[in-house]
Amino acid sequence: MRRGAMRPHGATLMALAALVSLTITACGEQASGGSGGVEVVASTTVTADLARNVVGERASVTSLLAPNSDPHDYEPAPSDATALAEADLIVGSGGDVDLWLAELVESSGSDAPRLELIDAAETIPADADAAAAAQEADPHWWQDPRNAILAVAAIRDELIAIDPQAETLYRRNTAAYVSRLESLDAQITTCMQQVPDNQLRLVTSHDALGYFAERYGIEVVGSTIPALSTQAQPSAGEIAELVDLIEAQHVEAVFPEVGVDADLEQAVADEAGASIGGELYADTLGSEESSGSTYLGSLASNAKTMVAGFTNGAQSCEIGVAGS
Ligand SMILES: [Zn+2]
Repeated sequence: MRRGAMRPHGATLMALAALVSLTITACGEQASGGSGGVEVVASTTVTADLARNVVGERASVTSLLAPNSDPHDYEPAPSDATALAEADLIVGSGGDVDLWLAELVESSGSDAPRLELIDAAETIPADADAAAAAQEADPHWWQDPRNAILAVAAIRDELIAIDPQAETLYRRNTAAYVSRLESLDAQITTCMQQVPDNQLRLVTSHDALGYFAERYGIEVVGSTIPALSTQAQPSAGEIAELVDLIEAQHVEAVFPEVGVDADLEQAVADEAGASIGGELYADTLGSEESSGSTYLGSLASNAKTMVAGFTNGAQSCEIGVAGS
């Protein structure tokens, strides 16, 4: 699903806009969504889950992306523009992750306020080695739970502005969720501290876990797609270089990502004599029955998977993310 996919172009969006106006006309008399209150539309599964934890039962949250799908190469459906046209608040992730959102919002005719959660986050540069002054930010901000705390505060404040009657509820929901995020962060820290430093070495599909690595003292050795987007193509030389690095640094496991096919990761692991670790949740949450169906669950699952993979099964970690 990742290689060679095209971004939506102008003609597609024009066609979408036409479909939307038809759909709206056709459904003009239909009652609006389930909650009867505020309608939030979020671009990715992660941003939708964060928003749901702020709104609780007060508002409905629609995620444009389905679980297990890669946001970088997403091709919007006509129903997305319809949802955006009816939204009271639009929650985007920002940067290369959902670049398609701005154009889609425009074609939907929505004038709802739009949050780009990356604007609330503490970002790290896309390329830590580059000295460029105007450095682009790595768009995978949510992989540090402290950024999720900043993000839910931004969602809370915007919702209070839109729906001031429910201020107390939004504040209470957010505070409860923040304490769960803080607990998760502390538990992951404890887990990673059990792993010897020279085994905290990560190889995964694309450069999506830089924030997680930075937060928990993990060295990113490389990725099979050496880029911040899943849309990049690795060269034969880059793959050979990665295999050499894995061998030289005695990396135990290569971790494929959920939502991205793992052929390349398997080939690299085989070539380098490493094992294939469990799947990591990078840019998407998993299906409802999976361990990564929520943001909290996805980070907990990643931490457990990494600890097992880093230590070749010698260590494990327990993380509780039970409800508030
Ligand atoms: Zn990504």
